[in-house]
Amino acid sequence: MIWYPYEQMKTMKPPFKIVDAKGVYLKTPEREMIDSVSSWWSVIHGYKHPVLTEAIKAQADNFSHVMLGGLTHEPAEKLSEKLQSCLPGDLDYSFFSDSGSVAVEVALKMALQYYVNRGQTQRTMVLSLTHAYHGDTFKTMEVGDDEDYHFILEAYGESKNVVHIPTEIPALKKAFEKYHDRLNCMIVEPLLQGAGGMRMYDISFLKEARQLCDEYGVLLIFDEVATGFGRTGNRFVADLVLPDILVLGKALTGGYIGHAVTVANKKVYDGFYGDEPEKALMHGPTFMGNALACSVALKSIELFEQENYMEKIHKIEKITRREMAGFEDPRIKEVRIMGGCVCVEVYDRLCLNGYQQFAYEHGVFSRPFLNYLYAMVPYIIAEEELVLVLRTMKEWFH
Ligand SMILES: *Cc1c(COP(=O)(O)O)cnc(C)c1O
Repeated sequence: MIWYPYEQMKTMKPPFKIVDAKGVYLKTPEREMIDSVSSWWSVIHGYKHPVLTEAIKAQADNFSHVMLGGLTHEPAEKLSEKLQSCLPGDLDYSFFSDSGSVAVEVALKMALQYYVNRGQTQRTMVLSLTHAYHGDTFKTMEVGDDEDYHFILEAYGESKNVVHIPTEIPALKKAFEKYHDRLNCMIVEPLLQGAGGMRMYDISFLKEARQLCDEYGVLLIFDEVATGFGRTGNRFVADLVLPDILVLGKALTGGYIGHAVTVANKKVYDGFYGDEPEKALMHGPTFMGNALACSVALKSIELFEQENYMEKIHKIEKITRREMAGFEDPRIKEVRIMGGCVCVEVYDRLCLNGYQQFAYEHGVFSRPFLNYLYAMVPYIIAEEELVLVLRTMKEWFH
């Protein structure tokens, strides 16, 4: 039987069985519902997009997968060229992997080995944010600060190699003063912390972080697995502040297949480049650069550019602000909106119990977690569909 994610199997209610999906709609045998979660924020073009489906079919007719160890192929080459041309600065070196968590692991490994390669073995520490989420594997849980993983703290105790700070400039300065010669990197979800509660913060924090990283020679990693491809209302937050390493996932393939990429700048790449084999980056996921994934990712990025998705996202934000204006309730702590993300934070998580069923009956799929009721819709959503998602959220509190 299936062991479902993040669920107490004894008490979980049966999941909705999906038999078909098209556009923003998920279809069960009984009804259809708008996916306000975009399958964990990845399905930006909606389901069954003809261009993306065709890209996969065409590649499958050719070959689906060959490894990147000693082999290469056009889909991976083309995707790396596309990333190089569309990403800012000299973020030119793409290391592919099969999931966001693994891509973050690769970024953290790169940062550590970058300094080890230079003989600076004392730089073992990572600066990270409170409420951070960077994935479900062990190192990503350690740099993360997700309350679901605090059992790890109970088991292992506080990590000596990770420092967590809030998104406040004084705390940032203090951490650099104290730890700068032991840090190899600072890692952040820029502007929008997703799984840690859809927390939004100001760009000034990232600008200051960039300056301090430059001053003390610390690498700056942006985990844009969730924020990449427009979710914050910026194409990439890396367009505003340039990191040394950028991680993309989730929407990279338009939500069609799991794939992710860790993109390094020239400085990081050069830290591995040379004649010594032991300075090579020691990583290689079996399915890195999968040809189906690369083919569909390439088409997804092309669609994003050709069909002016940034305009679609700005419209989603405008409609969301209009619909949520003046919405308040004693149970609600805050309503937050940024780009294609809206979050209603409540004081008591119990008041969200039953929301999923309520939403289903209104034709919306939603999956609140902890104290957060949120929507991250596919960007192709029509105005009346978005309005239905938002009005359902508001109606719950009436
Ligand atoms: C989802 C997510 C990850 C992990 O990606 P997976 O593909 O689920 O392993 C990492 N970082 C952030 C910011 C995410 O939102």
